[in-house]
Amino acid sequence: MSTLVFGHKNPDTDSVCAAIALADLKKKLGEDIAPAMQGELNPESTFVLEKFGVAGPDVVTSFAGKDVYLVDHSDLAQGPDDLDKANILGIVDHHKLGDVTTGQPLECWIWPVGCTCTVVASMYKYFDVEIPKDIAGIMLCAILSDTVIFKSATCTDSDKKVCARLSEICGENDLEALGIEMFKVKSAVEGTPIRDLVFRDYKDFNMSGKGVGVGQLELVDLSIVDNIKEDLEKDIQALKEEKGHHSVFLMLTDIMKEGTQLLIASDDESIVEKAFGVAPADKKVWLPGIMSRKKQIVPDLEKLFS
Ligand code: MN
Ligand code: MN
Repeated sequence: MSTLVFGHKNPDTDSVCAAIALADLKKKLGEDIAPAMQGELNPESTFVLEKFGVAGPDVVTSFAGKDVYLVDHSDLAQGPDDLDKANILGIVDHHKLGDVTTGQPLECWIWPVGCTCTVVASMYKYFDVEIPKDIAGIMLCAILSDTVIFKSATCTDSDKKVCARLSEICGENDLEALGIEMFKVKSAVEGTPIRDLVFRDYKDFNMSGKGVGVGQLELVDLSIVDNIKEDLEKDIQALKEEKGHHSVFLMLTDIMKEGTQLLIASDDESIVEKAFGVAPADKKVWLPGIMSRKKQIVPDLEKLFS
């Protein structure tokens, strides 16, 4: 039975591409391993895999009794429900250390960089394994996605250096154009059910015992969601009740204007002003310069709840 490598729930491009790349690397290092994902591909990941002719991983939701590697997460809440019954061999990630624990030593590559694929690309170098052209292409896209074309506060020099190397391998030279092409696909909302949009890039957090959900839509222009904003507001309110959460937020991030309109469903709206210094009006607030959930939203909220 082969080992499986997979990213977080509601898989994004990094979770999918890092799993594919790490499985490729580990296979070349002699392991019997396959990539998996905990849910269907989103439109951006579909576009990226098609562009470079790479097959999507199988959807797997139960991992009890299996050997696994985690990529792009180390939080139980973002892992499969039976993760505690799996045998975790290693973690490759770029988030704050989560609450996953193991019974024996593990291989751990958690770096403060903009994307898991930056770490995986560095692992290829460390193990002196050549990166295939198609894998270089999808890792490049994952880094452009996670770092919002190098604009995110999470982007580091390592991410840029790795991208330069990957673009040489896959032959994509105009990274800005490639990034915008990808974000246009990601921005498309037409014909997508409202709840699917809320869940497109959504994560639950346990903040000192309080449930907090934060979703994000990265858009090339905020006006794309003008007609559906009211429905999005209603839906995060409904989601908050369904989950029994303290708060559910939806970040509408304008990647060209480099800021986020935060939609708020909360038992205590005043936490938003306390965390970000701007008072919300009508259950929303514009946060200039805020683009990263991981670095600019979640830590400030966690501080408030602790
Ligand atoms: Mn991710
Ligand atoms: Mn990531």
